[in-house]
Amino acid sequence: MSYVLVLNSGSSSIKFQLVDPTATATDDPLVSGLVEQVGEPSGAITIKVGGEKVTEELEVPDHSFGLKRAFDLMDDHQVGTKDVDIIAVGHRVVHGGRLFSEPQLIEDQIESMIEDLIPLAPLHNPANLDGIRVARKILPDIPHVAVFDTAFFNTLPPAAALYAINSEVASKYDIRRYGFHGTSHEFVSQQVPKILDRDPEHTHQITLHLGNGASAAAIRNGRAIDTSMGLTPLAGLAMGTRTGDIDPGIIFHLVRQAGMSIDDIDKLLNKQSGVKGIAGVNDFRTLREHIDKGDEDAWLAYNIYIHQLRRFIGSYMIALGRVDAITFTAGVGENDTEVRQDALYNLDMYGIDFDKERNLVRSDEPRVISTDDSPVKVLVVPTNEELAIAQKSAEVAAQAREAGLFK
Ligand code: ADP
Repeated sequence: MSYVLVLNSGSSSIKFQLVDPTATATDDPLVSGLVEQVGEPSGAITIKVGGEKVTEELEVPDHSFGLKRAFDLMDDHQVGTKDVDIIAVGHRVVHGGRLFSEPQLIEDQIESMIEDLIPLAPLHNPANLDGIRVARKILPDIPHVAVFDTAFFNTLPPAAALYAINSEVASKYDIRRYGFHGTSHEFVSQQVPKILDRDPEHTHQITLHLGNGASAAAIRNGRAIDTSMGLTPLAGLAMGTRTGDIDPGIIFHLVRQAGMSIDDIDKLLNKQSGVKGIAGVNDFRTLREHIDKGDEDAWLAYNIYIHQLRRFIGSYMIALGRVDAITFTAGVGENDTEVRQDALYNLDMYGIDFDKERNLVRSDEPRVISTDDSPVKVLVVPTNEELAIAQKSAEVAAQAREAGLFK
């Protein structure tokens, strides 16, 4: 069997999986692993293979050391580069700007283009690049592929992509809506027409990726026409720890009245807000426990989250004109029956006939949870960004081999 090594490299961590690109969304990867606290004295490398979890605690001075050590651990368990046929390395890259609408075979020039995009994603792209450079050095004979979180949204029409901000400033600083979670919205939205036995070229849909980060997308006939995240992933829906949309005037107010620095505000809005900023917790299972115990803050946080979600669903219904399907995905979307029910409560007059019983069924499989007669179908479709990256990378790697670039 052939596998793709999928790498998601952060500033202080590397997540990796060995994925069979022909697997289904709910299949386990052959290996999954995490290198943690890179650059700190107390690092750790964990791999999970066949239900067994192995952790090695050690100082991981840099990404290169961490990745090499992770490969050694995989070798020790007969699932490393010596034993497994790795056909591609797929790198998750957060920001592809306007430059990338498709996955790219990574060559030196592509690396420098990703580097040029650092101003748009100062926290993410440098870490992604570190991962790319280190992995290309360790595995030089395997095609490496960059898969961009923004790529799916490069089709947004100008009216949705551009902000009503001074156009000279916007163009000088590349300010526009790029959107994120694109790999997930694309992966899920491509399955919907198959499940409904519809022509993808005639399917209008709303996809709701509700994980710790959350975003909504409006998709017309396979192409995204709007999405809730913007220049950065801070915009749109209220999330686990991020505000989602707020009045930008709040930032001036905090600078002037609270004397906060840009870094303070960045941390406040990205890490200390959202559901966590109001309820003190961001995991929806814990939030529900707190609600059940009568915690008023938890109830308020939940209601703000739902209100914001309904706002986006409503606006995308109008933007699309006709909606054939609304799909929930990611940790909250796939598992939280109450979020789904409350997000679509009382919308029969818009053709959404939600089936309460079907909604309660627990399953790992993609499924329809609206009534058979509902004009708008409601679905739950598990996402798997690593699998999507593996599929795209395998395809690009096959083309590179056909072109004679790799053996
Ligand atoms: P990420 O955005 O970090 O990739 P996921 O898509 O894995 O996240 O979603 C993680 C979130 O999913 C958790 O923070 C938790 O709120 C939520 N979640 C996971 N399982 C459940 C569950 N059974 N019920 C409700 N929420 C859940």
